[in-house]
Amino acid sequence: MFKGLIVIDNDAIDYSLDLMEVVQQLAGTEEVSIYGLGINLTKKMIGPDIMINVNDPRIAYKDSRVVATIVEQVHKKYQFDSIIFLATDFGRMVAPRVAMRLKVGLVADITDIQVDKRGKKLVRPAFSGNIMASIVCESSPIMASVHPNVFHLNYFNQDTEQEVFVIKEMVAPSMEVLEIHEMNTTGSDIREAEVLVSAGGGFSEPIEQLQRLAEALAGSISVSKSVVDQKKASREIQVGQSGKTVSPNLYIALGIYGSTQHIEGLKNIKDIISVNTDLGAPMNYLASIVVHGDAAEFVRKLTTKIEG
Ligand SMILES: Cc1cc2nc3c(=O)[nH]c(=O)nc-3n(C[C@H](O)[C@H](O)[C@H](O)COP(=O)(O)OP(=O)(O)OC[C@H]3O[C@@H](n4cnc5c(N)ncnc54)[C@H](O)[C@@H]3O)c2cc1C
Repeated sequence: MFKGLIVIDNDAIDYSLDLMEVVQQLAGTEEVSIYGLGINLTKKMIGPDIMINVNDPRIAYKDSRVVATIVEQVHKKYQFDSIIFLATDFGRMVAPRVAMRLKVGLVADITDIQVDKRGKKLVRPAFSGNIMASIVCESSPIMASVHPNVFHLNYFNQDTEQEVFVIKEMVAPSMEVLEIHEMNTTGSDIREAEVLVSAGGGFSEPIEQLQRLAEALAGSISVSKSVVDQKKASREIQVGQSGKTVSPNLYIALGIYGSTQHIEGLKNIKDIISVNTDLGAPMNYLASIVVHGDAAEFVRKLTTKIEG
């Protein structure tokens, strides 16, 4: 029996459940049992075969040291074959600490899993995304983190068994929360968008110029890292390896070259329209429609046309 744990991120519960697919794929042909770990969840959660609930008001949920200790204690009891985290800020803080404590490796940001006679291989980009590395994990448990939206769940247990785990030793908090400031958010999540109007380094206008087109297409605005680096947009709407993974039906790439790190953030996209002054840009080879020309002019003309 392959026992896999998924650690729930309270701020991304649906994406956390998608991690069950990672466990399924790691199990291969073995029988599998999927455990979820929920810390101070506000409601009962179903989906995994067994939910381990840790509820203790003393736990500062965002305190990665404390959470790592809890994951370690839970693992000591259940002895998992794999522990999978979502690569959110929360998961990125906790996963390496758990790996250190269990003295095993951690494969961050995996994009694929291959199970064959030679073992279970976790695939992730390496050397700035120029190659995809297949990493064989010889230590146990297999530990990995996964970007939201990269894997999608195919399994859901409606009769999840609920267990309560009581922490034996509570570590002293490593931080004290003094104030909480909500981040400025755009309100919509680009991962949910059906249409994305996406600006790259070749889009010379301010990003706000895309608002009308995005609205006319009932879509959202996203950007490449180059736009974020120019401080023209927030990282919250960045597509790619160090941004978000998106799956819209239509992706309009405005002056985006198509680097491997950017392409990595595009999953299951139906159609891409690429607008670029360089016909040889790699993004064009992924596109259903290529527009050879200036991206800003394209936006102006298309917006006028659609708005009639
Ligand atoms: C560890 C790491 C992580 C990274 N993570 C990400 C990530 O998450 N997301 C991401 O996007 N990148 C990421 N990058 C950066 C990535 O390598 C590229 O530098 C970046 O994607 C380039 O953005 P771009 O294509 O928009 O801009 P550029 O590389 O500047 O390309 C601009 C494109 O626009 C075209 N163009 C120029 N003028 C016009 C015009 N007037 N009209 C139309 N087209 C025009 C050009 O021909 C070119 O194809 C990462 C890099 C590293 C090393």
